[in-house]
Amino acid sequence: MSVRPYIVEYMFDSLVAVDPMADQSVLIERIAELETIKSAAAAGQARAAAALDAARRAGEAASGMPSERRGRGVASEIALARRDSPARGGRHLGFAKALVHEMPHTLHALESGALSEWRATLIVRESACLEVEDRRTLDVELCRDPAGLDGMGDARVAAAAKAIAYRLDPHAVVDRAAKAENERTVTIRPAPDTMTYVTALLPLTQGVSVYAALRREADTRSDGRSRGQVMADTLVERVTGRAAAVPTPIAVNLVMSDDTLLGGDSAPADISGYGPIPAAVARSMVARSVADRRSRATLRRLYTHPRTGALVSMESRARLFPRGLATFIELRDQRCRTPYCDAPIRHRDHAQPWAEGGTTTDENGLGLCERCNYTKEAPGWRVSTSVDKNHTHTAEFTTPTGRRYQSGAPPRGPAITISNLEVRVGIALARHAA
Ligand SMILES: [Zn+2]
Repeated sequence: MSVRPYIVEYMFDSLVAVDPMADQSVLIERIAELETIKSAAAAGQARAAAALDAARRAGEAASGMPSERRGRGVASEIALARRDSPARGGRHLGFAKALVHEMPHTLHALESGALSEWRATLIVRESACLEVEDRRTLDVELCRDPAGLDGMGDARVAAAAKAIAYRLDPHAVVDRAAKAENERTVTIRPAPDTMTYVTALLPLTQGVSVYAALRREADTRSDGRSRGQVMADTLVERVTGRAAAVPTPIAVNLVMSDDTLLGGDSAPADISGYGPIPAAVARSMVARSVADRRSRATLRRLYTHPRTGALVSMESRARLFPRGLATFIELRDQRCRTPYCDAPIRHRDHAQPWAEGGTTTDENGLGLCERCNYTKEAPGWRVSTSVDKNHTHTAEFTTPTGRRYQSGAPPRGPAITISNLEVRVGIALARHAA
């Protein structure tokens, strides 16, 4: 699929052309010009997004759709067109509507290159808690004279917008802070070297007191561990209720090729819900677990050839995916199958709906996040699936305007899955602490 329509090819080429032999001052000039083009393009995308949303809602209103259901899925269409995640698509659309309908000066500053897309986003974000009238005032004060934005970095732009918002409506800012407390949560993501980040988003006072308590603990210990190590160990001990030195059994689902398991291959293994881990680490996890008689790990072949393996051809009359098939889909898809959406899988759903004759099979099954599963049900959306002769599972998403996007399941050779592998994760402690 060509990225650019043929008609604009020539125009586009001259727009972004760079002569590497040009004079240095010309090259710098070119970098500045291209930056302005990026901002102008972002403004154009905002206008197009707001217009698409308005046209879709008008059409749906004319066909008698209740107002709360109108515009469903538009953010996901914008995300696909921008090669971005649906969550970002939602932000892009909110940003576009705010700029086009309420903040003309900020939009103009973006269009002229005085603001980057990110800085314009910061201004929209800081004004989000305001009533429309106040938002318009902020727009005028901050962006009517684009020269005033000259030399302002991200932090200064955000601070200037925040200061105006606070002056215009202090209560709105305080209310927003109270609402933000509802967003408190704990998340996990992989870190390099088979470490992991556990992040807590907390109200300010709680966050500060958690950190202070860990530091206090570190101040009272002098056992050869660094401050950071004591703080990390204390966090684990207090949250899990076990001493950090005592290995904590956790059940993980591990997928790897049999060659990797037997040591003949260095292809990485995959912990479901975490991501790839080095072959050697996976092997030692399995070895330790197998040596431990308390372990209840189950081993199962996965991705076997359709002629020989039952799992791939498993079919059910049930509306809900049976557990084995659901696990299979989850291990196959790894993350939400919508292109560019990296969200974890929450639903194992039918591509072609069950009500329309879709079968409960791995071929018609799709791992999706909550948001994408909901979007798929919006009017005009269609998802079809296929499996080619190399057993690659492909899902094709068709949006209301008829654009098509494909997503293949991540490639994987013959593999085995080890479910419920009990891995004893111990934190290396100075032994004399015990
Ligand atoms: Zn998704």
